[in-house]
Amino acid sequence: MPEKVNLMGMSQGRMEAFFESLGEKKFRAAQLLKWIHQMGVSDFQQMSNISKALRNRLGEVAEIRAPEVIEQLDSSDGTRKFLIRVGGGNAIEAVFIPEGERGTLCVSSQVGCSLDCSFCSTGKQGFNRDLTSDEIIGQVWIAAKSFGQLQEDGGRGDRKVTNVVLMGMGEPLLNFENVVESMHLMMNDNGYGISKRRVTLSTSGVVPALDRLGKYTDACLAISLHAPNDELRNQLVPINKKYPIAQLLDSARRYIEGLPDSHRKITIEYTLIDQLNDRPEHAHELAELLKDVPVKINLIPFNPFSLSNYKRVSNNAMYRFQQILIDAGYTTTIRTTRGDDIDAACGQLAGQVNDRTKRSQRYKLDQVALMSAEDGVIPVKIVNQ
Ligand code: SAH
Ligand code: SF4
Repeated sequence: MPEKVNLMGMSQGRMEAFFESLGEKKFRAAQLLKWIHQMGVSDFQQMSNISKALRNRLGEVAEIRAPEVIEQLDSSDGTRKFLIRVGGGNAIEAVFIPEGERGTLCVSSQVGCSLDCSFCSTGKQGFNRDLTSDEIIGQVWIAAKSFGQLQEDGGRGDRKVTNVVLMGMGEPLLNFENVVESMHLMMNDNGYGISKRRVTLSTSGVVPALDRLGKYTDACLAISLHAPNDELRNQLVPINKKYPIAQLLDSARRYIEGLPDSHRKITIEYTLIDQLNDRPEHAHELAELLKDVPVKINLIPFNPFSLSNYKRVSNNAMYRFQQILIDAGYTTTIRTTRGDDIDAACGQLAGQVNDRTKRSQRYKLDQVALMSAEDGVIPVKIVNQ
């Protein structure tokens, strides 16, 4: 029997094509999207506005399947972490962080990461594969469902996914097509209907892919900078050797300036590591570097993990760093560590990755070049929302 097609991660455009291939009208796609992403229904027989014949047909050729949750962990501060099975002995993580009215879900885009940043535990685990769009949007579905949010009235629970950040495991721009397709579902009114100002893609700087991003989405952008000059950034974020800071900031600026609404800002993420990038001269250099770029700055105290010798920044150094940037006129926030007791803080997301890159043949910049060289090398199938 041919494998059933999973509708979980299909954007509206792809789902319309799917219905047309069944000889059905396109508007069915919007109905299906609502059943899946707004009401959390995965059984076609429950879809009351769809004829019995079509429900049966769908049951034969299609399915709605989220990945399987292995474990759900709740932190004392309300943070909830999901460990999710993705086959081949691999697992990924998604983390929900409540903050007043806001509920941010941090979503993974790959099983592991090939970019090997020296301060990141995901990077230290190697890379296995890209997540499918079913697995990416499936994380939102799983979290929303766990809060009873997926009901006709939007649910009445006190927790709700209002924001999504692609800051979990993996480099989203190296899984361009699937990430963009799932972002469409997050933002589509028939999907989760999250505003473009509440969906953020974070990248360590795959410039050729970033150059193309604006054609496909108008979501928010975060750049993982972590250093004010190339010499230091080369040590922390190896992809910088391929795409140095000036190129990265130019590309980010073009993205943000290409958005139709003005006053959007790029978020600069800067992980502060003790004695490495946390000195006042680094802060001054950063202020100078960013002076012509529309940014706000988010400082992240380094979260230690077992495979790393780096240490967390001292509070003194962190507040001094922040003050220099504020004095220079930048909106500068500090990301407080959340979910520490369940290893859910930034950079602690480890999941379970069966490395296929053989770390001995360390990478991998060649691979990136290949994947992102020219338009068309990254295959793009998504056309619209
Ligand atoms: N690959 C993307 C998105 C995932 S990483 C990127 O690099 O942007 C999400 C954020 O967590 C990045 O800013 C990353 O630099 C930061 N991070 C990774 N490891 C960390 C650690 N140990 N402590 C604090 N922040 C970390
Ligand atoms: Fe990959 Fe981001 Fe971690 Fe770097 S910081 S290894 S790009 S997940």
